[in-house]
Amino acid sequence: MRYRAAVLHAMGARHSIEEVELQPLAPGDVLIRLHASGLCHTDLEVIEGALPYPLPIVLGHEGAGVVEQVGAAVTHVKPGDHVVCSWNPHCGHCFYCERDQPILCEPFTRHQPAGRLLDGGSRYRLAGHRLVHHFSTTSTHAQYTVVPESGAIAVPHEIPFDRACLIGCGVMTGVGAAVRLAKVEPGSTAVVVGCGAVGLHAIQGARLQQADAIVAIDRDPARLALARICGATHLLGPAQGDAAAHIDAVKALTAGRGADFVFECAGAEAALQLSLDCTRPGGSLTILGKVNVDKKVSLRFGSMMGERRIVRSSYGGARPRRDFPWLARLYLDGRLKLDELITQRLPLERIDEGFDAMRLGRTLRTVLEIAH
Ligand SMILES: [Zn+2]
Ligand SMILES: [Zn+2]
Repeated sequence: MRYRAAVLHAMGARHSIEEVELQPLAPGDVLIRLHASGLCHTDLEVIEGALPYPLPIVLGHEGAGVVEQVGAAVTHVKPGDHVVCSWNPHCGHCFYCERDQPILCEPFTRHQPAGRLLDGGSRYRLAGHRLVHHFSTTSTHAQYTVVPESGAIAVPHEIPFDRACLIGCGVMTGVGAAVRLAKVEPGSTAVVVGCGAVGLHAIQGARLQQADAIVAIDRDPARLALARICGATHLLGPAQGDAAAHIDAVKALTAGRGADFVFECAGAEAALQLSLDCTRPGGSLTILGKVNVDKKVSLRFGSMMGERRIVRSSYGGARPRRDFPWLARLYLDGRLKLDELITQRLPLERIDEGFDAMRLGRTLRTVLEIAH
């Protein structure tokens, strides 16, 4: 079987839309006919070389579609199921899976950075039999993808694919960080530094947990306006002064203590320090943003003292089979905003326009609508 995919052949290059040939499915594989795929900043990091992956590769890790075919050993999904891809499939029985930390699953962390599925293989070839790498075991910028069974998560048929795909990364990470990891408490004060997709979803998570005050901090007034829609009660941007003024504002709201729960979603050294300075003694800081892994960051040591709990998370404590259907139902019940966060929809062929807009900071989410 052949299908069209956006293939990246070199760092910094444009995508090439070409035919990929599917190899036979392994017993634990799920073949998904994709209908929507979100562009996430992590894709751009690969394109620009900040996150090195073997090439050629098909990027994309926010995908939704319909199960087309399953391997002989698959029991959790069946053809016809609507699914969202999880970029953290896990084996269920390694050291970390047994300790309830599937994000660290050993087959996953061994093979995923090498552009392979959990069994170390690739199911994609280009014409001439050249191997194509999988990205984060999802490779959703394509008409089809093959994922391990634990990476294909059934969701209700009612949620449209272009909304459902967002659940697979940004929504899960932000809402999960607030609800599953930090466990924001009713009546508490939360601060979110950086209002991109993950930050806006952390705001929604804090709202779902009934935080009393939710402070959004960002330089962009348009993002702060979205933060308000997502549930922020206080907005801090350039109009309210610099970082020192923002810390003062958070202290003023909290009798001088700082916030109970803080989420760093900007991915910058200054944002890390700002986030620490907004966290009260004994409070919790969840770091969701990222800087280049080789970059050294300096932080004022005193800001880490005071029994603060500091956690870095990639996927918001995701347990996809538990969480994706829950997030889909929240959307269908009108309790989770997704429509407002889609900036534009493009066909697969125009994928690079989406990344161009992302580079200019013009988009929150671009969703590819995949035609067949
Ligand atoms: Zn992502
Ligand atoms: Zn494992």
